[in-house]
Amino acid sequence: MIELFEKYPILREKLDYTSLGKFPTPVDKLYDFGSAIGLDNLYIKRDDLTSQLYGGNKVRKLEFVLGYAKKEKVKRVITFGCAGSNHALATAIFSNSCGIRSVSLLLPQPNAQYVRNNLLASYFYGAKLYHCPNKTAIAFKCLSMLIGHVLKHGHFPIFIPPGGSSPLGTVGYVNAALELKNQIGSGVMLEPDYIYVALGTMGTAVGLLLGVLAAKLKSKIVAVRVVDKNMANIERVENLFNKTNLLLNSLDPSFTLYNFPKERIIIKEDFFGEKYALFTPEAMKAVSLIKNKEGIKLEGTYTGKTLAALINDANSNNLNKKVVLLWNTYNSADLSDIISNVDYRKLPLSFHMYFNNEVQPLDK
Ligand SMILES: *Cc1c(COP(=O)(O)O)cnc(C)c1O
Repeated sequence: MIELFEKYPILREKLDYTSLGKFPTPVDKLYDFGSAIGLDNLYIKRDDLTSQLYGGNKVRKLEFVLGYAKKEKVKRVITFGCAGSNHALATAIFSNSCGIRSVSLLLPQPNAQYVRNNLLASYFYGAKLYHCPNKTAIAFKCLSMLIGHVLKHGHFPIFIPPGGSSPLGTVGYVNAALELKNQIGSGVMLEPDYIYVALGTMGTAVGLLLGVLAAKLKSKIVAVRVVDKNMANIERVENLFNKTNLLLNSLDPSFTLYNFPKERIIIKEDFFGEKYALFTPEAMKAVSLIKNKEGIKLEGTYTGKTLAALINDANSNNLNKKVVLLWNTYNSADLSDIISNVDYRKLPLSFHMYFNNEVQPLDK
């Protein structure tokens, strides 16, 4: 049983949940990489291994989001992201395994090899893909799909927000912190002083923040912003924190209602670079260093920028005696067999440019 339901049996009765992954994910110590950057106690939380189908951080969120969709017996979920969205792919894969069709409304983004891979894999898993030039186009497409769906099925489809970061999805990372607490209790690692994690749609960092309070861990969350500041900032973090906390407290009053713990989260602003999904030189260097030292494969949009922040702090902030945990949010399951079965020309025409244009270096 998951840790959240063990600790809060009432939540087990009240929250819909479907098991999609393999938990707990391992915690490993990074001896070689740690010593290369001067840290004696650096660990990694292997959320790249959340599922053998497709790992990464979206699995934990979808266990709650799709649990709800299954209970509602919906035929279809509609979600959003950029063209290479890991969340859109995760939604395609796991809604498919729940017998639910998925639709992804996707915005343009800088090209990369993972964009191609994710589009092909989404197609393989039966997702309906639309490339929308901007947010207005998304809004119109949503409206017309909503009307079409209601006329046909007589009920609303379920919309999953970008990154799966609804309060319900965020609960997946509250549980993840409780999982970590158990691992610390069984001696897998010392209690971390700092947990480094990417800050995108914020569900991961916010769920961990609420989760470390519930688990009574002292850890601070170091959230490295990798999207525009209007998408991820302290006000929006507080808002999602309060909504998720209120959801859990209203279902089970024994889940404490906390004051927003501003001092427990540090948002790193300096590693974003120019633009979402545009790789920075520091991120690319960080990705190749951890690959060389540990054989761990990260990427340039989220985890590379997060690791660049950690390397910078290791140099400048006296982290060497601290216990630091890097939360790996990127999938490591190999999709190449699946991808090799799909011809990109089967995708809608507006996606073909990602296959005809150059990709950024790093993951060529
Ligand atoms: C989506 C994603 C993130 C960001 O997580 P949020 O919960 O959206 O903040 C980080 N890393 C990877 C690899 C992701 O796909």
